[in-house]
Amino acid sequence: ISNQIDTISMTKKIKCLITAGPTREHFDPVRFISNPSTGKMGWNIALAAQKKGWDTTLVLGPSELPNIDGVNVVRVVSAQDMLEACQKYFDDCNILIMSAAVSDVRPATKIEHKAKKDEIDLCPKLERTPDILKTLSKNKGDKILVGFAAETHDVLNYANKKLAEKNLDCIAANDVSAKGCGFASTTNSIDLIFKDGSIKKFPHAEKAKIAKEMIDFFSSIFF
Ligand code: C5P
Repeated sequence: ISNQIDTISMTKKIKCLITAGPTREHFDPVRFISNPSTGKMGWNIALAAQKKGWDTTLVLGPSELPNIDGVNVVRVVSAQDMLEACQKYFDDCNILIMSAAVSDVRPATKIEHKAKKDEIDLCPKLERTPDILKTLSKNKGDKILVGFAAETHDVLNYANKKLAEKNLDCIAANDVSAKGCGFASTTNSIDLIFKDGSIKKFPHAEKAKIAKEMIDFFSSIFF
């Protein structure tokens, strides 16, 4: 029986859920709060996961990037949409890689039609968006959870805090103020930080290269 289980687990496809891109939090149909994320990092991670043979779902915020053959791409707009899409696929996944740059705040009210210029509220009330990772990680079970921390300063310190707060296995710390890194860049450099304090470095390279190396690394240590 134990041989049988080994065979099954070796042939079972790893199911992975990846998020990418920004979210948009609308005031009205034409105005929103967002950030400069393009989705390139997570999109490349999804491509690498698919090439690795993983069963891959990519929940993608508003992005110019195309669909990927063989990947279930679910396009969403807001943080709430992203949360709901992730909840649909989370139970069934083995690994969640949350690289989306989720907007931290949203307008407390949204109007259905475009506000005229003189109707625009100059001090709109904002509220926090749901923390998707924190919400999902309450039911972590034996899933692997990977977060991203885009910071402009004190990167390792903040990343470590998020690793603990969001109940993650590791976090990809990303200095978005460094040259050729972060939002909208085709290149990046990442420090992957683990709970035991160990760090795996992915030095400055094309996001596609980092994505492939990261998926190969996860495959070797987790599965
Ligand atoms: O708290 P902060 O936004 O810096 O944390 C970054 C990590 O948390 C990323 O993995 C991001 O995708 C995730 N996140 C989230 N829900 C939010 C904000 C961030 O899941 N509302």
